[in-house]
Amino acid sequence: MTFTQQSPRSTDPAPSVTDPLADLGPLLDGTVLRPGDEGYTESAAPWNRSVEQRPVAVVLASTAQDVVRTVRFAGARGLRVSAQPSGHGATTALEDAVLLRTGALDDIWIDAQSRVARVGAGVTWGALMTALDGTGLVGLAGSSPVVSVVGYCLGGGLSWFSRRFGTGAASLRAVELVDPQGVHRWVTEDRDPELMWALRGGGGEFGIVTAVEIDLFPAPRIVGGRLAFPAEDARDVLRAFREVTSVAPETLSLWASVTHFPPLPLLPEEIRGRSFCFVDAVHLGGPDELNALLAPIRAAGTAVLRDTVRPLLPSELGTVCEEPEEPSAAAHTAMAVTAIDDELLDRVLGLAGPGVATPLFQVLVRHLGGALRAPTAGAGGPIAAPYLVTALAMLPDPALVEPVGAAMAQLREILRPWAAGPTTLSMLGAGEDAADAFDAETLARLRRLKGDVDPGGLIRGNHPFARG
Ligand SMILES: Cc1cc2nc3c(=O)[nH]c(=O)nc-3n(C[C@H](O)[C@H](O)[C@H](O)COP(=O)(O)OP(=O)(O)OC[C@H]3O[C@@H](n4cnc5c(N)ncnc54)[C@H](O)[C@@H]3O)c2cc1C
Repeated sequence: MTFTQQSPRSTDPAPSVTDPLADLGPLLDGTVLRPGDEGYTESAAPWNRSVEQRPVAVVLASTAQDVVRTVRFAGARGLRVSAQPSGHGATTALEDAVLLRTGALDDIWIDAQSRVARVGAGVTWGALMTALDGTGLVGLAGSSPVVSVVGYCLGGGLSWFSRRFGTGAASLRAVELVDPQGVHRWVTEDRDPELMWALRGGGGEFGIVTAVEIDLFPAPRIVGGRLAFPAEDARDVLRAFREVTSVAPETLSLWASVTHFPPLPLLPEEIRGRSFCFVDAVHLGGPDELNALLAPIRAAGTAVLRDTVRPLLPSELGTVCEEPEEPSAAAHTAMAVTAIDDELLDRVLGLAGPGVATPLFQVLVRHLGGALRAPTAGAGGPIAAPYLVTALAMLPDPALVEPVGAAMAQLREILRPWAAGPTTLSMLGAGEDAADAFDAETLARLRRLKGDVDPGGLIRGNHPFARG
């Protein structure tokens, strides 16, 4: 592998005194959009439409060199730079920043023999997993095919395969970034151990990443899918989920939820206005093994209304949870818990269970454990908690913001006695603080490094932790 390093150019133009952004466009292969330009509003809008973003400009980067030029340009003019392939994890942290859209950096290179993939900063998990079909290998993807490999791994990355192989962050081998001084370089554990530690789960605060190399893992057989039960079965199904997860092999990832579909005309009739208890499973193995593991859960429900369990290609993993792939307005929160005992289940179902009027779309329990407990060489992890509870709400109407916020606060209050410490940055909701994703020692170390490498705060991640 050849690594190249470039130094800032002495030919960079001197800042214009009147309009700090006037000279940027001609420097780039891509496009700069300013407020008032056609396409600005659309390009500035994040995937999560509940977050409003008004960057001073949007740069649609065509090449890694565009990223280099933008960072140097912004640095010389005292502006901030924030990267987003799409805005799946958008927060309100963009004020005064140039927003770099990296979606066009979409190269994928796979070396199946060395079990490594190199991907550009715009590559989605769906694109990488499709490229892995037939190789017998997977990357450590989460549930959604539309989030970027880079944003997910920088933020920790809880995968279907994390119980077996660890987090997406831990799978980062090397990171190609433009640092706050405008130097474009590869970061590896050998060359810069402290920065590599921070990039493995510490978020996008240390530079603008143009590509990463990640480990791939053997997955000769994958099987998985969703079981749908009547929502009224939730208590019994969740108890069976608890029993199965207490002895599950690391090859199995199980999630269980109560999900309420709103009575919207655009939804198919069979789900419109109805509630379900879903169990989502992904297993590294064959269908017979998974069916045996799921038997107590199937038996706990009064009826299996839908069963999509089947052998899966890597490219099909993103279909398991049937998550929306189009931009929408949503709110999300998450808390790791020490257990899902009967008391916790009763309280959570009392807030958002069957027959309860709730603005929450879904309350979901993810089984963690396994390799997630192992020490890591990064800021993300290890994660000791056995379960993660998440809640999701759709916000098609601004009038829902308040009741949803109140319901999420109530859920967090209910869960607090079982709170089990931080999980990953990628699981934070838009309004939540980076401090919730790390223990105090890790947060202090990240803040120290940020102060050392980016004292002017040029690079702005979605959950800044520079304060304090
Ligand atoms: C439907 C859905 C399902 C999800 N499922 C999971 C899951 O199973 N497991 C999990 O762990 N997470 C999951 N997430 C959360 C997701 O991983 C985070 O929101 C992640 O930050 C998304 O990354 P992105 O790059 O696509 O989003 P963006 O909002 O575009 O980027 C998020 C942040 O990542 C950083 N970043 C991105 N690109 C760069 C770059 N090139 N250089 C520097 N910093 C960069 C920046 O700080 C940026 O603000 C899910 C999110 C959604 C919407």
